[in-house]
Amino acid sequence: ATFGNLSDRLAETFKNLRTKGKLSAADVDGTVREIRRALLDADVALEVVKEFTGKVRERALGDEVSKALNPAQQVVKIVNEELVEILGGQQRRLEFAKKPPTIIMLAGLQGAGKTTLAGKLAKWLAKDGHTPILVAADLQRPNAVTQLEVVGAQAGVPVYAPEPGNGVGNPVKVARDGVKYAQQKMHDVVIVDTAGRLGVDAEMMKQAADIRKAIDPDEVLFVIDAMIGQDAVATAKAFQDGVDFTGVVLSKLDGDARGGAALSVASITGRPIMFASTGESLDDFEPFHPDRMASRILDLGDILTLIEQAQGAFDEDEARKMAEKFSTDSFTLDDFLGQMQQLRNMGSIKKMMSMLPGAGAMKQQLENFDEREIVRTEAIIQSMTKAERTTPKLLNGSRRLRIARGAGSTVTEVNQLVSRFEQAAKMMKTVAKGGMPNIPGMGPV
Ligand code: GDP
Repeated sequence: ATFGNLSDRLAETFKNLRTKGKLSAADVDGTVREIRRALLDADVALEVVKEFTGKVRERALGDEVSKALNPAQQVVKIVNEELVEILGGQQRRLEFAKKPPTIIMLAGLQGAGKTTLAGKLAKWLAKDGHTPILVAADLQRPNAVTQLEVVGAQAGVPVYAPEPGNGVGNPVKVARDGVKYAQQKMHDVVIVDTAGRLGVDAEMMKQAADIRKAIDPDEVLFVIDAMIGQDAVATAKAFQDGVDFTGVVLSKLDGDARGGAALSVASITGRPIMFASTGESLDDFEPFHPDRMASRILDLGDILTLIEQAQGAFDEDEARKMAEKFSTDSFTLDDFLGQMQQLRNMGSIKKMMSMLPGAGAMKQQLENFDEREIVRTEAIIQSMTKAERTTPKLLNGSRRLRIARGAGSTVTEVNQLVSRFEQAAKMMKTVAKGGMPNIPGMGPV
């Protein structure tokens, strides 16, 4: 996929980070350097890389990481948040005119995917109850009008094209007439396809600017081929100066290009990426969500939601008290039970685990996981006396038998629980000393 290589590189970087507990300034610098290289190798524009890594570094050296329970995860979270920013922050939806029709103009180089996009957008809007019409104002490229008619037929939407002999050679007039026609026929959205050239040139820019002036569109979408590499930045700037646009559409995201240049466009032009085009069929199209794209690039699955849920479920003061207990060896079975109950606050554990990246591989473990085990654990711990819970060393054979009877379980189950508790206490002690716990899906420690 387009960002496959970048994803792999970043994953490698984070894997190295995860083997560390507390992060030193040198750790942060090393990580930032690796991220910087990965982005540059993926063709992300230098100025964007600089800004991005600068912000990540500053935040990673600050309080939010040094005070975090798990510094490495916090760094991943920061990288993700800054990546979302680079990609435009909030998702930006189409803005519809208060008084229809909403006029959408498409601009971009020839071959960028404008005509295809016109069909995709029309089909998507029609599905949503709109009544779009396409206007063929690309009179430069031979067959462009026919191609739009084909795409319109596929999408099941009408196409306004110049009558032979009327308006041929005058795209501004065609665009204006098309909008007028749409008003008469009560279409609520007009999508105007315009001409592109293989490279940016002054005449094409002027034509596009003239069309924009003539039809005063609500949205001007700049379509850019994700495969064009470093030229993306210059092309986007030229279109911004020449015509200006309200949003960006990334096309051909299904390709194998490095894609980083396309990632720079939103940041460099200050215009949001609104849609992504991911194939030749009219259905290969989706509104662009900066957050989802960022997690896709970072291959995070829904782990961010997970981290947020965990942060919500675990009270920070509580966590600090716990850490203290671990390091002073005063962690009890009551605390153990409390932890389990907190885990339960995080919602169904199965659902939670399915949000982890690599959840596919853990399917078997998920199948075997039984939430009733928590209930059984509760029963066992609650059958213990206060003294037994605080001092598990007291748990000799006869006590274990009594507890098993009280909880309706077996001595083996009581034994298993006690040894799990001992393991947890040991692991938590390591964490409290600055080690890293083994979180499922986050790779081995
Ligand atoms: P235009 O000159 O800007 O109107 O570009 P076209 O819409 O004619 O697209 C140029 C070529 O790219 C055509 O062969 C399209 O089928 C193809 N194309 C458009 N969008 C995509 C996409 O998202 N993925 C892939 N793989 N091909 C695309």
